[in-house]
Amino acid sequence: MTVKLVVQIRLLPSPVQAAALEATLCACNEAATWVSNVAFERGESRNFALRKHTYEQVKSRWGLGAQAAQHVIKKTCDAYTTLRANLRAGNLGRPGSKRRRQASDRPIAFRPGGGQPYDDRMLSWQISERTVSIWTIQGRLKGMTFTASPEQLSTLARYRRGESDLVHRDGMWFLNATCEVPEAEPNTGPVDFLGIDLGIVNIATTSDGQIMAGRQLNRIRVRERGLRQKLQKKNTPSARRRLKKRRRKEARRAKDINHKIAKHVVAEAERTGRGIALEDLTGIRERVRLRKPQRATLHSWAFQQLGEFIAYKARRAGVPVVYVDPAYTSRTCAQCGHIDKANRVSQAFFACRSCGFVDHADRNGSRNIRARGLELWRRGAKSTAPAVPRSRSAAGRKRGSTASDATLCKPGTSVPGS
Ligand SMILES: [Zn+2]
Repeated sequence: MTVKLVVQIRLLPSPVQAAALEATLCACNEAATWVSNVAFERGESRNFALRKHTYEQVKSRWGLGAQAAQHVIKKTCDAYTTLRANLRAGNLGRPGSKRRRQASDRPIAFRPGGGQPYDDRMLSWQISERTVSIWTIQGRLKGMTFTASPEQLSTLARYRRGESDLVHRDGMWFLNATCEVPEAEPNTGPVDFLGIDLGIVNIATTSDGQIMAGRQLNRIRVRERGLRQKLQKKNTPSARRRLKKRRRKEARRAKDINHKIAKHVVAEAERTGRGIALEDLTGIRERVRLRKPQRATLHSWAFQQLGEFIAYKARRAGVPVVYVDPAYTSRTCAQCGHIDKANRVSQAFFACRSCGFVDHADRNGSRNIRARGLELWRRGAKSTAPAVPRSRSAAGRKRGSTASDATLCKPGTSVPGS
């Protein structure tokens, strides 16, 4: 069993090389948009059928090689598959809504800088030299340098398989390389569970008492939100551009923090021979009722992402993960089990009305989660994974997806849809 993960490295092309990369992405995406029009007009988005109608033209008109042409066609097919999945999952609004019509009433178009898949015949890696040799419409570029951390280099050297995506973003060039990392031997007899409480004020609190606070992050978010509202009011093309850039930056920051927390939590569980217990937060957006400012933080915060990161890092490390019922974890006393709304004195404090036990509220919650996880494991629950979340991230990713890997529970359980 292996886990797929994407290693992103930054390319450092010379100006001449960068121009060739740009021309290549541009040609590939123009061709993809044309293929997409053909697919839309013919109502045919299956790879094999579409290839018959478009392959020769894509090669001759845009100067693409056989490999690139096939990837362009496949990319178009994948985009339609993703769109269909999103429509089915209701991610683009109700039937008849404006957003849904906008997405389905016209052919999919590809941005000039949109990502393009490269296989091993179009891209070769010289990892020890930190260079790649990459195909472009202006010929093959050899010895293009890239930067990567030592950890990334060793992952690439050992586990890179299949395709990589060439991506142009904010003036920088990246390769997203798919790696298939073997899972560790699953821990089938965890000595205990590490309970994790995911929250708004404190992003994650462990039953060991460790609190990973989001105070600074929340402050940034509040500031960003104010700025965004201003820009939204302005609604000029430049304001919209800036808005988009800000949003992406915020998402990157959240992702980075999620990665760090997940890594830390999984390493701690692995080191101590424990499993991880998480709350089953499927549908938290529908369920949770919060004051308005908190609602905004919750929505912008990638809760689900953190859960996914923990799940796939745990799978890699062979750490079992169970998902427990989150009902009343914040009102239940971890000491005596007494459930009372009044136990939760404030956002931060827990004080049991029955036994007088006092604790930090999130820590009390995480201890309840730990206890429920342990109980679930002892009962021998085979599958405790929540249903596939109805998120855009889960349905919207195409290849090299880690989202589908995230719904598993115990190591060794097969993943639906992969
Ligand atoms: Zn109590």
